[in-house]
Amino acid sequence: MSEPRKPLSPVDQTLVDGVVARQRRALAKTITLIESTRVDHQQRARAVIAELLPHSGRSIRIGISGSPGAGKSTFIEALGNHLLDQGHRVAVLAVDPSSTISGGSILGDKTRMESLCQREEAFIRPSPSAGSLGGVAEKTREAMLVCEAAGFDVIVVETVGVGQSETTVAGMVDVFVLVQLPNAGDDLQAIKKGIVEIADLVVINKADIDPRAAALARSQMQMAMHMLRPMHAQWRPTVLTLSALQKQGIDAFWKEIERYRATMEGCGEFADRRRRQALDWMWAQIDSGLRHRFLAHPAVRADLETISAAVAAGRTTPSAAAQTLLDHLQVR
Ligand code: GDP
Repeated sequence: MSEPRKPLSPVDQTLVDGVVARQRRALAKTITLIESTRVDHQQRARAVIAELLPHSGRSIRIGISGSPGAGKSTFIEALGNHLLDQGHRVAVLAVDPSSTISGGSILGDKTRMESLCQREEAFIRPSPSAGSLGGVAEKTREAMLVCEAAGFDVIVVETVGVGQSETTVAGMVDVFVLVQLPNAGDDLQAIKKGIVEIADLVVINKADIDPRAAALARSQMQMAMHMLRPMHAQWRPTVLTLSALQKQGIDAFWKEIERYRATMEGCGEFADRRRRQALDWMWAQIDSGLRHRFLAHPAVRADLETISAAVAAGRTTPSAAAQTLLDHLQVR
């Protein structure tokens, strides 16, 4: 850590300077470098991020999730425009591991967030379209730091309700928001999947269609959330109704985010959460790095198939097999 850092190549220094000078092209190129799977690109990306790190961190990071059709992109567009009008700079990133399979991604469709796309103070980047959830999330997390270094003070990370993506995104943001439809089916799904437990704020969208149904959904959700143990002693998650399409309730939502931030900063939890997340992220990287090295080890590669077959056939126990393979690494 105390080793002096090698100076960046002129090309990479230009990227760093461009990002700090808030040049959109440099920002986009840096994120492309981060998303590259080439080993030399990854090394360069690490060096560039290290230079940008002191410029990062000065934003609020908001995770937004919800089932497809709940109105996430309509909501993010309305919120984004509202914030730009107030002088904020807004970056929207996405974590969509399903894009690896479908080839598309949640922000890939150009028609989404059309008005936000056109504004200079907004930056919208689709999900990286290759890799595991962990890999996609790691790249998005790094892209988030780069956006902060480029002066974006509100970072929105959108994700869809597939698999573990909500938990992963909740682990990289300051506040996690769940967008719900005003019907009981959507409530139940979210409660069953355990997403409600990790939400700091729930939004019942499309309240314009049937305001009474929305109000009912809100009180039911609030009741359900009261039964759960709150994630933070200082903050009881709240439920708001709004209409993203008619841009109603957007201001109240932002005020709630500001109240959340003030509460969490007041008790030190805002910074603590970021510290915990950084350490969790380090351990996730160590875990995946070790697994990678383990699988690449020649002795492990030679034995893995035979030992796996022995475990499957019941000729050896999983723990004895694991020990034999781990011993190949000679980790003391
Ligand atoms: P996403 O898949 O969660 O990103 O959802 P979209 O933002 O693409 O919205 C899905 C559909 O719901 C679109 O046809 C939107 O126009 C519509 N929609 C989104 N928000 C609202 C709302 O507040 N009221 C109404 N009536 N329709 C909405």
